[in-house]
Amino acid sequence: MGIADNVKQILAELPAGVKLVAAAKTKTPQDILEAVEAGIKIVGENYVQEAEAARQIVGSKVEWHFIGHLQRNKVKKAVELFDMIETVDSLEIATEIDKRCGQTGKVMPVLVEINSGWEAQKAGVMPEDALELIKAIAELKNIRVEGLMTMGTATGEAEKLRANFRETKNLFDQVKQLHLPNVDMKYLSMGMTDSYKIAMEEGANMVRIGSKIFGARG
Ligand SMILES: *Cc1c(COP(=O)(O)O)cnc(C)c1O
Repeated sequence: MGIADNVKQILAELPAGVKLVAAAKTKTPQDILEAVEAGIKIVGENYVQEAEAARQIVGSKVEWHFIGHLQRNKVKKAVELFDMIETVDSLEIATEIDKRCGQTGKVMPVLVEINSGWEAQKAGVMPEDALELIKAIAELKNIRVEGLMTMGTATGEAEKLRANFRETKNLFDQVKQLHLPNVDMKYLSMGMTDSYKIAMEEGANMVRIGSKIFGARG
């Protein structure tokens, strides 16, 4: 099946209320355009440069989400290019986003990335440090925290992933109850090609799917 058929099949099977992010890393702008023409409304990019090239072709009729690891020296560009940054995991990066947004009068919707697999080499804030981080980010006027994002364990074991997603959903509910300023908990971004079904069972309302749309990456 081609990209358009894949998109249509996934969209048909996702429950109402679950947003689909097409994870487009390494794919060409033409591939992304094909996905968009088949119904994709949100494109997820891991690299600022790829997003810049893709945006020139695909344009702003879709939402662009940054889903990669954001380096401080890329924040200025990211703030210009993206409608949401899903991977905020430190006060340092949040402060830089806030500063750059302040310069252009933008308020950036972000998700806080949780390292729910407790894997030392992985991105994301550790679950036990998440509340403190979110309370600190809530002080920043040019950022609005709209939810949480997680990958889950890199081992890919289904039962571990389920536990990771459940833990992240618990955190999501806890943060929501705090009613912090500049925080509006709406999105729980969890699940990829091999895990989105488990993630939705555990409360995900945003899934990031790459290979099931675009085929395997080279
Ligand atoms: C690549 C990627 C995805 C999609 O992964 P697939 O297994 O290809 O569906 C989702 N989220 C992030 C952060 C990614 O980097």
